Amino acid sequence: MSQQCVDPIVGKILAGWRYDISGLALEMRGDYEGHFTACDRCLRRQRLHRMIDVGLIALASLSAAVFLLAFGVIRHFGPRHAFWLEVAALSGFALSALIWLGVAVATPAPVTVLDAAKQGARRVHDRLPEEIRQRLPEELRVKITGT
Ligand SMILES: [Zn+2]
Repeated sequence: MSQQCVDPIVGKILAGWRYDISGLALEMRGDYEGHFTACDRCLRRQRLHRMIDVGLIALASLSAAVFLLAFGVIRHFGPRHAFWLEVAALSGFALSALIWLGVAVATPAPVTVLDAAKQGARRVHDRLPEEIRQRLPEELRVKITGT
């Protein structure tokens, strides 16, 4: 089933941005946000791209952790050729860290993760009893609820 974009011109612009409008000024976002509401196809692509971004970050984190763990294991057991194994493990770690950084800079993954964290915080906040909510610093409340 191939669904058509309701406005191919806007859809093409959005595709060029990898469906990321997080970098746009608020007053410029209106039309594009409207398009995501109206166009199922672009909305689904946006979700897919954000999933890929976050997946890449998660994968790079995992790979960095594994290489670091390998380094620790080599250090601990000190097998033969330990030096070169250590170098290999550290290189793997450095490469994973570099990929992590590249993804974090080139994609809106940090924004996506931050948004998810904010939504989680808001949900917790909404469940708190009123008297505790009132005691939260004003600044924190604005950050969580955005109002
Ligand atoms: Zn569209």
